Amino acid sequence: MKLIFEKSREGRACSILPKCDVPKVPIAQSIARQKKAALPELDENELSRHYWALAKRSYGVNDGFYPLGSCTMKYNPKINEEIASLTGFTGIHPLQNEATVKGCLEALKIAREYLCEISGMDAMSFQPAAGAHGEFLGLLLIKAYHQKRGDTARTKIIVPDSAHGTNPASAAMAGFQVINIASGADGCVDLNVLQAAVGNDTAGLMLTNPNTVGIVDRNILKITDIVHKAGGLNYYDGANLNAIAGIVRPGDMGFDVVHLNLHKTFATPHGAGGPGAGAVGVKKILEPFLPLEGLGLEGDPSLRPDSIGRIRVFYGNFLVVLKSLTYLLMLGRENIAGISKNAVLNANYMMERLKTKYKIAYDTTCMHEFVLDIGPLKHDKGVSAMDIAKGLQDEGFHPPTMYFPLIVHEALMVEPTETESRETLDAVIETFFRLYDKAQTSPDALRAAPVTTVIGRPDDVKAAREPKLRY
Ligand SMILES: *Cc1c(COP(=O)(O)O)cnc(C)c1O
Repeated sequence: MKLIFEKSREGRACSILPKCDVPKVPIAQSIARQKKAALPELDENELSRHYWALAKRSYGVNDGFYPLGSCTMKYNPKINEEIASLTGFTGIHPLQNEATVKGCLEALKIAREYLCEISGMDAMSFQPAAGAHGEFLGLLLIKAYHQKRGDTARTKIIVPDSAHGTNPASAAMAGFQVINIASGADGCVDLNVLQAAVGNDTAGLMLTNPNTVGIVDRNILKITDIVHKAGGLNYYDGANLNAIAGIVRPGDMGFDVVHLNLHKTFATPHGAGGPGAGAVGVKKILEPFLPLEGLGLEGDPSLRPDSIGRIRVFYGNFLVVLKSLTYLLMLGRENIAGISKNAVLNANYMMERLKTKYKIAYDTTCMHEFVLDIGPLKHDKGVSAMDIAKGLQDEGFHPPTMYFPLIVHEALMVEPTETESRETLDAVIETFFRLYDKAQTSPDALRAAPVTTVIGRPDDVKAAREPKLRY
């Protein structure tokens, strides 16, 4: 497919600008553009076809089943978009006087209250634009807390090996030393290993829960207690709240700070880098350190001297928060637990049926996702997790998350979400079975998949090592 720049023909641009109705002011030569901007020029028909062709080449939740584990690719109700596109919300400017945008501030306040209640926290910031960004903020808050108390020797963050990959990365970015601890055979934190790891230098613990093998740690209260007794704080990676929302709350489990991915559990679209919202909830002790927000009292550094400052401008991705608020209002308080229960039911249904052919990495009741271990197929037939994933693409389904978590070598991490029907789940399960049988009879065919997509198997290593990001 040609790039839009290659399709461009000079003079063919189809934009029609309204007549200028303000006085023209000449720009200083020093900052004026010297030559015409190299923007593509296409007629409207070609432009429309170009983007339509691009859209047809991508695969999203509107196309079909998208079981990307740890990403919660659930259906995003269209009413969320409708509300977030009301001009009262879109036709404003962040530098507008706060007295003129009270409705928007009220919407943020309500969203904050609901999400604080769901997570069991006292205060919340919507500034982070993604989950990992939220983790980074949460860790800066933990750091500010210890520093304010003069407890400056606390330089280490403990991260179990079943954590999401962003956890150790965020801790390192926030300037902490990362202490990795190995999980027990059951996929949970080993309390003895944790006890041995904590000390006067422990700033905190980051726990992904349910962890990346889809299990809720059953010793959670003991874990948070060990860390608190050692003087550290507890961080809950709540990106995947889809299994526990409305049922249990991180704030009741001994956690001091949590991030929620609104673009996962709370039904706002994501993928391709955003826009997202990694809301960060905190207990009272961390509230003074939250980011400066907006132009009013919450944004005044002289009134908020302990704030860590800003990690993004203004209020974060406001329209994303609105979509989540719409989602919550449509559901109603009494139906939130239903999301989690159905997400867990769907995952267990798939896991139990797939178990008749495939190996399950941790064979116990799972939460909202589970991990298939393709290791035996690889050993017996030379068919890898990658081959099964590519085979699924040929059958019209998006593959699960591959090669994650790292503690399972041939991992396929499946998260069906609560928004899929029984018929869809059955169709996918039957496809998984067919691929299993194909691995027995014609493994070479699977190793050649996909054959129905525009691009077969790109060289991922080369793409990662030598990315070509510009034309
Ligand atoms: C998705 C996810 C993250 C990272 O969120 P981003 O918005 O992609 O930065 C962190 N932790 C867990 C457990 C996740 O599933």
